[in-house]
Order: sequence, then C-alpha cells, then structure tokens
Amino acid sequence: MDLRATPEQQRFRAELRGWLQAQLPWEYGKGLPPRFDDLAEEVAFLRSWQGKLAAGRWVGVAWPEAYGGRGAGPVEHFTVQEELARARAPEMVGRIGINLAGPTLLAHATDEQKARWLPRILSAEELWCQLFSEPGAGSDLASVATRATPVEGGWRLNGQKVWTSYAQFADWGICLARTEPDAPKHKGISYLVVDMHDPGVDVRPLMQLTGDAEFNEVFFNDLFVPDDCLIGPRGEGWRVANSTLSHERGTNPRQLVIHIQLLEELLRLAEERGGFDDVRLRQRLAEAYVEVRLFQLHNWRSVSRLARGLEPGPEGSSLKLYWSEMSKRLHDAGMAVLGPAAPLWKGADDNPGEGRWQRSWLYYQGASIWAGTNEIQRNIVGERVLGLPRG
Ligand SMILES: Cc1cc2nc3c(=O)[nH]c(=O)nc-3n(C[C@H](O)[C@H](O)[C@H](O)COP(=O)(O)OP(=O)(O)OC[C@H]3O[C@@H](n4cnc5c(N)ncnc54)[C@H](O)[C@@H]3O)c2cc1C
Repeated sequence: MDLRATPEQQRFRAELRGWLQAQLPWEYGKGLPPRFDDLAEEVAFLRSWQGKLAAGRWVGVAWPEAYGGRGAGPVEHFTVQEELARARAPEMVGRIGINLAGPTLLAHATDEQKARWLPRILSAEELWCQLFSEPGAGSDLASVATRATPVEGGWRLNGQKVWTSYAQFADWGICLARTEPDAPKHKGISYLVVDMHDPGVDVRPLMQLTGDAEFNEVFFNDLFVPDDCLIGPRGEGWRVANSTLSHERGTNPRQLVIHIQLLEELLRLAEERGGFDDVRLRQRLAEAYVEVRLFQLHNWRSVSRLARGLEPGPEGSSLKLYWSEMSKRLHDAGMAVLGPAAPLWKGADDNPGEGRWQRSWLYYQGASIWAGTNEIQRNIVGERVLGLPRG
C-alpha cells in the first residue's frame, strides 16, 4: 500500500477544504453542527446541508458524472470523508441512498431505472430506506416472508419489515420480497423498489434506547408494485441483495469519520476535566487513540484494494467487527472521563456535552447488531477468510 497522495489527489483535497472553509454553516475547525430536539427538524437541516454539498459536487464523487458524481475513484471518495471529518460535518442524511441503494442500482438497474432514481439521491431531494429485516428474518435474511404475488402489470406486496431506519422520512425503499414461494429459499426472492408514499405502506416508529425513533416497523397492505420497480431478474433478488450487503460491510469511511470526531472531542473533554492526570484514564485514552488510528489504517488498506480494482470481499466483515467493538470501548472511555456526570441526561446541570456523550454511548450499543451482528461477522471471517469448517 502506497500512502503518498498524487499531485491530483492533493489538489482535490485542497479544493474541497477550501470549499468547506467557505461554505460550512459553522466555523471551520471550531464550530459544531446545530443540535435539534426534534428528529424531523434535524432531517430537514441535514437535507439542506447535503443539497449544498451535492451542488458543489462533493457527494458521491465516485458515482458517474451522468448522475451527479465525478467519476472519481475510491481514494477521492475516502478523501471527501476525511475532509468532512476534519470540518466536523454531520453524517449524510441520505446515506442509505448514497451508499446502499445507489450503488446497487448502478450495478443492477436498467438505464430507465437509473435515470428515474439516481439523479435525486445525491442532492437528498429523495431519501431512501432499506426494507430487508423482518421479525423472522434478520441474521438469516434469506428467510424473508414478505410475499409479492404476481398481478397484472406488477405485484401485490403483503408482509412486515422491521428496524427500518428513517422509513418515516423516506421516499423510496429497497425491499426484499418472496416471489417464488416454492423455490429454495435463496432462489425465490426478488428485489423491488417500493414507493414509501403509497397508502399501502404503513410506517410505525419504534422508540430506541436513546429515546429517539429513528427506526420503524413497516407494514405492506396489498401494496401494488409495478413491473418497472423490479431490480435485476425476477427470483434473483438474493444476488442483487448481496451487492447491497457488500457495500454495507466493505470499507467504512463514515464510521471512521464519526470516530475520529468522537476521539478528538474526547481528548478535548479529558484535557478540560483533568482526565490526563489520572494514570488509568490516561492509559484508556491512549488505547482509544491507538485503536482509532488502527481502524484508519485498516480502512486505508481496504481503500488501496479498491483502488487496485479489487472487490471489498469478506474481509469487510473483520472491519465491521473491529470498529463496532472499538466504538464500545471508546464510548466507555468517554463515560469514564465524564465520571460522576456519566448517568446524567440532557437538561441536567454540570453535564459536559449536555448529554451528547450519553446518547452516543446508548446509540453505539447497537453497532454490534446493525449491518449484520458480530456473531454473523465472526462466522463469515471464520468460514470465508480463514477457511474453517462450517459450524
Ligand atoms: C440501529 C439499527 C438500525 C437498523 N436499520 C436497519 C435498516 O434500515 N434496514 C434493515 O433492513 N435492517 C436494519 N436493522 C436490522 C439489523 O440488520 C438486524 O437487527 C440484524 O441483522 C440482526 O437481526 P435480528 O435483529 O433479527 O436478530 P437475530 O437474527 O434474531 O439474532 C438474534 C441473536 O442470535 C444470533 N445469531 C443468529 N444467527 C446466528 C448464527 N448463525 N450464528 C451465531 N449467532 C447467531 C445473533 O448474532 C443475535 O445475537 C437495524 C438494526 C439496528 C440495531
């Protein structure tokens, strides 16, 4: 792996940094994005921020130019994430569209489908959600029971999805449904795009540990899905879904960005509160620093694979495993720095960060579950990377 940037890559980074310094809605390098008590207000703010970034052509830089990207490579994509971290920019609200739905459509959709959906993803004019998990199909995703029954011009969809992040704000959803109930379970699934505004879709928010309701139950009641919303061939949805899942578990610049920001915040906080005076805490902070740096190096290794035209592969699972466990340790160190303030929530006095750390600690307990649990990642690493016999 060669970590030296080419002159073009350096120019690209400098151009973006200059753009961010001029356009960021808070003071570059110092300020933070505004905080919202209401999730809908936050989503509205984040949509306009993503729209602004997309207008500068800084979202989805690796996408083809025809759909708003720059046709750039994985290194440039990664550079954007690093610069956004440096600017302390928030996560992209349209991330499911940018990182999962979009790349899957690019790989498997027809030209008409691409022209219909891709142009409004990067600008956040349309948001997407991922309708994969069901009450009886999480780790064993191929057991999806949502039925798509063939009817004139399309399908009738009936069933239930669960844990669907941002479904309440989404315009479209990528959905796995069973179209061939008599076929073996991996063979009878089709990959559909669902209109989330159709009255046949019922979205019911679920409260999370944090008190927010980011994810939802989604019910399909005789929802009509037209033929032209099928992605890839009928019954080949499992193959298409694997392309979505490989993007979900491949390199993870988003989590790298978030954890670099968290680490910097943590070190600032520790300095303010005398955390470095305590030898045990100092040790934990040093460990957190080393682990985030290691995560960065693992990411760079994956990026250099991608830059050489290689697929992310099952090694993506070890990256997911690493960062989700690293995250929990880093958040525990955060709680130790807060000390007696750790059990407090927003609104309490003497609570550095006003509950931000406590919320983040709760939120990242779920990191070992979403995008495939850590037990499943260990199975993948054991079987497909190390070649161990199936358990
Ligand atoms: C914050 C959050 C957001 C999410 N957002 C989305 C979303 O937008 N869209 C979406 O489709 N899904 C989403 N999910 C769902 C997520 O993908 C599933 O929760 C996950 O795949 C696990 O499935 P499950 O919850 O059904 O657990 P189960 O599959 O029922 O697993 C229960 C337990 O059994 C273990 N287990 C199961 N099978 C095995 C095995 N073969 N070997 C060893 N252990 C095993 C698991 O590791 C786990 O500990 C989200 C989840 C979270 C936490």
